[in-house]
Amino acid sequence: MALKTADEYIESAGKLTPRVYCGGKRVENLLDNAVTLSVVRATTKIYELAEDPQYKEIMVGTSHLTGEPVNRNLHIARNNHDLDMRQEMALLTSQHLGTCNYRCVGCDALNALAASTWEMDRDLGTDYNKRFNTYLAWAQANDLACSGAITDAKGDRKKRPSQQDDIDMHLHVVEKRPDGIVVRGAKVSQSGAIGAHETIVLPGGALRPGEEDFAIAFAVPNGTPGLTYITQYNAYSVERESVKDVYELGNPLFGQRETSTMVFEDVFIPWERVFLFGETKYCGRLVARFAKAHRMNCGGACKVGYADLIIGGCMLAVEYTGLDKIPHIQEKVIDMVRFSETSHACAIAAAFRGKEEPEGSGVWMPDDLFGNAAKLNIAHGFWEIMKNAGDIGGGGVVTMHAISDLSHPEIGEYVRKYIASAAPAEKRMKVMKFLQHWTAGLHGPGTWHGAGAPATQRMALYALTDFEAKKKLAKDLMLLKDD
Ligand SMILES: Cc1cc2nc3c(=O)[nH]c(=O)nc-3n(C[C@H](O)[C@H](O)[C@H](O)COP(=O)(O)OP(=O)(O)OC[C@H]3O[C@@H](n4cnc5c(N)ncnc54)[C@H](O)[C@@H]3O)c2cc1C
Repeated sequence: MALKTADEYIESAGKLTPRVYCGGKRVENLLDNAVTLSVVRATTKIYELAEDPQYKEIMVGTSHLTGEPVNRNLHIARNNHDLDMRQEMALLTSQHLGTCNYRCVGCDALNALAASTWEMDRDLGTDYNKRFNTYLAWAQANDLACSGAITDAKGDRKKRPSQQDDIDMHLHVVEKRPDGIVVRGAKVSQSGAIGAHETIVLPGGALRPGEEDFAIAFAVPNGTPGLTYITQYNAYSVERESVKDVYELGNPLFGQRETSTMVFEDVFIPWERVFLFGETKYCGRLVARFAKAHRMNCGGACKVGYADLIIGGCMLAVEYTGLDKIPHIQEKVIDMVRFSETSHACAIAAAFRGKEEPEGSGVWMPDDLFGNAAKLNIAHGFWEIMKNAGDIGGGGVVTMHAISDLSHPEIGEYVRKYIASAAPAEKRMKVMKFLQHWTAGLHGPGTWHGAGAPATQRMALYALTDFEAKKKLAKDLMLLKDD
């Protein structure tokens, strides 16, 4: 089998046995809890999109290992077109989900590993790349959903991993055995990990000599003994669990954006799944490669898909309230398009300026400068987009009634009468709930921090920009000579 159907994925998700806690309650089956079900639904949609012939070019690539068609989330970019299709996939899936494509982080982690395992084998004579390719070919053949785990708990951010009072703040090796390693620690904010078949784990950042125990990269199957998932829990979780009908919700099927803390309590990883072990020198480059890919995709393309949905919601809102030809509203919508399309342009540029990295590896990585610019621009732009959506939608974005009130025997008539505008009340209410999902939900900080807090992109832009070249250009034009 190469591509799983959506039905096959749902069937497999029903058989997953992760140890999941949601709002303090143990979830025995992901399909039985409204919150965890939203993750399964979103992941299912990714399989569905890959089945749709009109999205084949974007969603399906050709495995460089087997020549078989594979879901692009398991594909290693081999040229600029692949990079472009990768960022288009991030855009497309966001447009269709209004939440995370829960296989995105895993995809970028796999691409980073493809490059870095090749590099380590070249430099050190290890066999990580061979192991990795065997694993990848198996994951591709079974079309497995992979999440990606990079962010450690981190503890006191001022201290290095080995200086923490509690060493478990960064995932680390506690035992080396003949058949594998045992790891302990936690990865936080793990998008969709509960519904993924596998999680691809990378170190949380660059490491130094002496920090070998933290230098680990591996793949771990969902439900592995010792692994516990504690899901995020918030007002939207409570709402989803309590509504009688998902129609009531802003994003009925796919929800807000679900993550969990993955606790590794002495989890055994066999050697064939370990792709880096102790090579501190290579951790920085591995994580930088992940970040390069993820900033183009998660920043420059995914959030543009969200922006498309918000802009669509705003245009419906003004149509329903009779405000569609008002100049200041049009100006606000134009600004929203400006922010989002600028980020998309940066993502496209990152794809087309991307290069083989390392040379000879056959792995293509996006351009770092444009990728970081894409992410940073949308991190800032998204707040503006949400602000404008809140303005255009009016107070109803946060004051709207339950949609079920429309059919209430005593108050339904009032709601239908007073909430109606240029369109019937139901349409207005639905679009208000939709805009509430974006503007008063989790997406602001989510967009800000996802793919790394913006301070890191600022540092990257400063480091990547050739200021000497710019100074020289300025001096040449001024006819300013050096002494
Ligand atoms: C919706 C969402 C989905 C996510 N999905 C995933 C996922 O699937 N997989 C994954 O691995 N991660 C995921 N993340 C985690 C994401 O990468 C982190 O949130 C991000 O890297 C910031 O780390 P943090 O949350 O620990 O914030 P913190 O590190 O606590 O940062 C808070 C602030 O402190 C600053 N700061 C932190 N440390 C320092 C320092 N040493 N020096 C100076 N300033 C510092 C930061 O710049 C920021 O301004 C997700 C996050 C979100 C919000």
